[in-house]
Amino acid sequence: MFSNLKISRTGIEQYIRCPKCFFLQRKLGLKPPSMVPLTLAVATDALLKNEFDVVRESGACHPLWKREGLNVRAFNHSDIDLWRNNFKGIRIKHPTGTEIYGAIDDIWENLDTSELHIVDYKSNSKKDEPTIETGFGDSYKRQMEIYQWLFRKSGFKVSSIGYFLYVNGSKLGKFYENGIDGVMHFETTLISHNSNDTWVEDAVERAITCLQSDVMPDSGVECDNCRYYSDRLGINSKL
Ligand code: SF4
Repeated sequence: MFSNLKISRTGIEQYIRCPKCFFLQRKLGLKPPSMVPLTLAVATDALLKNEFDVVRESGACHPLWKREGLNVRAFNHSDIDLWRNNFKGIRIKHPTGTEIYGAIDDIWENLDTSELHIVDYKSNSKKDEPTIETGFGDSYKRQMEIYQWLFRKSGFKVSSIGYFLYVNGSKLGKFYENGIDGVMHFETTLISHNSNDTWVEDAVERAITCLQSDVMPDSGVECDNCRYYSDRLGINSKL
């Protein structure tokens, strides 16, 4: 069935985590509770984009790449700002007519292989070294793999290696160091992820089918809210 649906990268992630929530919000238009915006993370993302835009323009090697032994450059493409815009992003048309899209943070081009590395910036403030093996790690990996899939579908030669660039805000030291402008220091950690995007096509198909159907799907296993509610109803109905 042909459709004019649009599904974002976050929509696919939501479908994987809870098909029912995806259906309620994106088919029936239920609004989720509003969240406090992560403005500090938005600020560190903007600073990192500014930082790598300087070397994108000049073609210079960034000290981070030297430190990590990477032979890359910031990919200079006329659509880079479009791809990084949350309201636009990179878009492909699925054969059903559904548009699938997502916005990346950056792309580095491998100078040995000409392949593109998808780069995602992450910020936090933790005592321990950042890792993608715990917490939201699986979700971050899926995010990277969906971006890789979108760029491959758009005809780019994409490396299976993607990078998470973590900036970890230190709670040590003083805020006012010199004068009145506050300072926060960040440790940066580059984590490479050897990705596999073979699951994405199927997840996209299932998400589209879900939105084209009128049948409410089951909830995911990560949230107990609906299960609790149904169980309570079940108990009450027996009373
Ligand atoms: S199980 Fe949780 S995430 Fe899924 S629809 Fe219910 S409340 Fe939303």
